[in-house]
Amino acid sequence: MSKTITVLPGDGIGPEVTDSAVSVLDYLFKTFHHDVRFVKERIGGAAIDTDGTPLPRKTIDQCLASDAVLLGAVGGPKWDGQSMNVRPEQGLLGIRKALGLFANIRPAKAFAPLIDASPLKRSYVEPVDFVIVRELTGGLYFGKPSERRGEHKEQVVDTLVYSEHEIERVVEKAFQMAEKRRKKLTSVDKANVLESSRMWREVVNQVAKHHPDVAVRHALVDSTAMQLIVNPGQFDVIVTENMFGDILSDEASVITGSLGMLPSASLRTDKLGLYEPVHGSAPDIAGQGKANPLATILSAAFLLHYSLDMDHEAALIEMAVQNVLEQGYHTPDLNVSADRATLVNTSEMTDQVINAIAQQAAKVN
Ligand code: NAD
Repeated sequence: MSKTITVLPGDGIGPEVTDSAVSVLDYLFKTFHHDVRFVKERIGGAAIDTDGTPLPRKTIDQCLASDAVLLGAVGGPKWDGQSMNVRPEQGLLGIRKALGLFANIRPAKAFAPLIDASPLKRSYVEPVDFVIVRELTGGLYFGKPSERRGEHKEQVVDTLVYSEHEIERVVEKAFQMAEKRRKKLTSVDKANVLESSRMWREVVNQVAKHHPDVAVRHALVDSTAMQLIVNPGQFDVIVTENMFGDILSDEASVITGSLGMLPSASLRTDKLGLYEPVHGSAPDIAGQGKANPLATILSAAFLLHYSLDMDHEAALIEMAVQNVLEQGYHTPDLNVSADRATLVNTSEMTDQVINAIAQQAAKVN
């Protein structure tokens, strides 16, 4: 049966990097005879310009009717002066909410040719291969606005609310991921202070009973922030609530040294997911062919894996990216250590990835 991917290019370098990822996906679908079509819709500043809103109803409906969504990035100086409700970022928050995406997945993995770009010592970075699963719909970021400021504005309240159900579904997702990886789960909280964290621990212990092959460890967020620097290789899957996950995943993103390399997935209980690079719209390099498309191409690999059950094709993308870097191909943002380093633009990098996939696929066949 035919599948549909909605592509939301967004702003800045978003259209350049999503074009790259679509070229790679299109090549794979043709090679392996998959019937998948792409539908483009607008989001962010691009949608404000044409529709007066960062998230048109048509975009939401199209995403809801698809099997997966691939997003570039939103925002830029052109829209910085807009009122809060018509800011490009509202498009991003709105689509995550409209699709009910509650688990944000961000991997941190060392690519051998990029290890020297990390601010950490080589020996600390080499073994890094972990995933952070961040709860995305609850916690401190969703307090009721009316409760936040007291009448005299001398007092402020942010509420941290979680239901057992909200915790359970994201923890279950994390256990499922750990089962497919090295079977180690670190649940991060602040149970020495927060009641919500104590409930989080109880739920994790309950869910753990259904996954006896996964080793579970509870850790406090402050100590985890430190451990991510002194021994990042110890982690496999980390699961945590919204704000802790926001902070830890930004910390983790610098360990491997390159913003242009980091993919992400936002998932819910069924197969529909939204896939996007971690970086923003990089207005400083937009339209110049300097954007590194690899984070979006790796997000497309996530899409194949989580939404379309095409694990072989996803693995081909990951191998191809590794291959291309090992051969020394790099966009200007990457500091590669290879005998032969070749500077390439966005479309040349994309072509190299497709060539590497073709070579790998030919070997397998
Ligand atoms: P940014 O990630 O866009 O850029 C930070 C730096 O990294 C810039 O120097 C940029 O050139 C570089 N960079 C980022 N991605 C790159 C890539 N793929 N290849 C090469 N270099 C890359 O962050 P910023 O400058 O803080 O924000 C710019 C705009 O993006 C803002 O409007 C911000 O709100 C928006 N933003 C959007 C998202 C999103 O859509 N998810 C995330 C972060 C920021």
